[in-house]
Amino acid sequence: MRRKLFVGNWKMHGSLVANGSLLRDLKAAAWEAQGDLAVCVPACYLAQCSEILIRSGIALGAQDVSSHTTGAYTGEVSARMLQDFGCKYVIVGHSERREYHGETDEEIAHKAQRAMAAGLTPIVCVGETLAEREAGRTREVINMQMDAFLSVLEPEETNDLIVAYEPIWAIGTGMTATPEMAQEVHAMLREKLVEKSAEAGELVHILYGGSMRPKNARELLQMPDIDGGLIGGASLIAADFLAIAKSV
Ligand code: PEP
Repeated sequence: MRRKLFVGNWKMHGSLVANGSLLRDLKAAAWEAQGDLAVCVPACYLAQCSEILIRSGIALGAQDVSSHTTGAYTGEVSARMLQDFGCKYVIVGHSERREYHGETDEEIAHKAQRAMAAGLTPIVCVGETLAEREAGRTREVINMQMDAFLSVLEPEETNDLIVAYEPIWAIGTGMTATPEMAQEVHAMLREKLVEKSAEAGELVHILYGGSMRPKNARELLQMPDIDGGLIGGASLIAADFLAIAKSV
């Protein structure tokens, strides 16, 4: 049985003061969560958050990683650097990076590889736009996104990643996929993993992301292939993030 996992994606939010108070509130009540908790914070706050989270049981993650190991790449942060700060996870291929930074499937596959080589677990995001869904292309788009990174991984490496299904039209919009819509895609993602490695099909967490809130979490989390959430807006409020993590 996969234990549920709840990952907060803070995006470009936070400050030294706000992070301290959010993390202290989370730490105080983390024992109530019905699963594991993690927060993916802006890179400049990794040191602060890593110190606050020591022995808290809440894991730390980053929101992006370079596709290079080291070198003259101004502004980039390598997987090894993230590991230095105690990161366990890194989000890779979030739709905001694909859209605003032109990240390609190929680059995302390299980022996932770099993360794994440094001992981090990449949380690889896939998802369709509203236009693609309405054109009946959801399956095709997600297949392409999955194939891009699965094709560069060895079957046994596939066990060590997390997939997040994030329908782009649901991110930050207040629109959520119905549990049935999400489950249909999650089941398809699970099949893709099984094709690569039966073990990965069992082990890999598939998270749902897209306006997950305390009011809709329970229904989504009851679906057999939804193993937790990648949570944006609601992860910035300790009570909401914890309420989601208790909705199992
Ligand atoms: C996200 O940014 O990954 C996300 C799912 O955001 P939100 O929960 O705000 O829709």
